Amino acid sequence: MTALLEVENLRVAYGKIEAVKGISFTVEAGQVVTLIGTNGAGKTTTLRTLSGLLKPLDGTIRFEGRPLTGVPAHRVVALGLAHSPEGRHIFPRLTIAENLQLGAFLRNDTRGIAQDVQRVYDLFPILGERARQAAGTLSGGEQQMLAMGRALMSRPKLLMLDEPSMGLSPIMMQRIMATITELRASGTTILLVEQNARAALSLADHGHVMEIGKIVLSGTGADLLHDESVRKAYLGED
Ligand code: ATP
Repeated sequence: MTALLEVENLRVAYGKIEAVKGISFTVEAGQVVTLIGTNGAGKTTTLRTLSGLLKPLDGTIRFEGRPLTGVPAHRVVALGLAHSPEGRHIFPRLTIAENLQLGAFLRNDTRGIAQDVQRVYDLFPILGERARQAAGTLSGGEQQMLAMGRALMSRPKLLMLDEPSMGLSPIMMQRIMATITELRASGTTILLVEQNARAALSLADHGHVMEIGKIVLSGTGADLLHDESVRKAYLGED
């Protein structure tokens, strides 16, 4: 069986700076796969390239067995990849409900959209309670929920989450991680970029450690959690 997403020898540069230096990994349908690593390792660049926001220098990306390399961003969404970006990028003056509608911009099945809005409200009740309020009034954690909800509104086959725990309180972070586990249980395939390696590896099927543009270690979430070098470098243990 082919993987849902196959990335092979992907290279991405900003001018002369090569941020991603030939990485390969796959995501099977139904899995949570995480990319971990410190600031500047190339994780965000990888997601932005998969989304069609950056053009790779070299390498191939295949989604459901079809080439995705060079496909523009709006087509990538239509094919079933949704991206919840780092820093959230919600629209603060629009209401929460309007932000969610924007996530469904390529769809015209009014009933299905309404069902999915309800699903997001079931997942994150605070968004339903405050549906008519400006999104800018939400806390950081709630804005993260909205960004995830908006990405889900395109009914993605693959949901890409960039640092969903960034800047959140420990309780909010646990809430977001629990939601990722819930989404996985309901069959959503997820590519998760995180600096919080412990949280990400605890829930991921597979993980890849990135260092300055390369994947230096791969394994199951559990294997990496117990790997000595990962424990020292990323989990703050001696
Ligand atoms: P972070 O957690 O900080 O987002 P990251 O692993 O996601 O880290 P990237 O944001 O992908 O890393 O950055 C990889 C490298 O590319 C870094 O050296 C960064 O400085 C560089 N870089 C990122 N964006 C640009 C840009 N727009 N122009 C030039 N260099 C960039």
